Amino acid sequence: MSAPRVPGPDPGLCGSCRNARIVETGKGSRFYLCELSRTDPAFPRYPRLPVLRCRGYRAAEER
Ligand code: SF4
Repeated sequence: MSAPRVPGPDPGLCGSCRNARIVETGKGSRFYLCELSRTDPAFPRYPRLPVLRCRGYRAAEER
């Protein structure tokens, strides 16, 4: 399953990474949260987009 598409700026790798989770605020803003940030401080909680290179990238599984 691929990560859901979010309107707005190109997220780069986060847009198709299984470690990405989309967070929506009450005001309608959307962010990509990197799940690896929970266990590895080298990864920012909210990566600066677009992410062009990332050692933690893992392609979301295709169905
Ligand atoms: S591992 Fe890299 S590409 Fe994947 S969500 Fe985190 S920052 Fe984005």
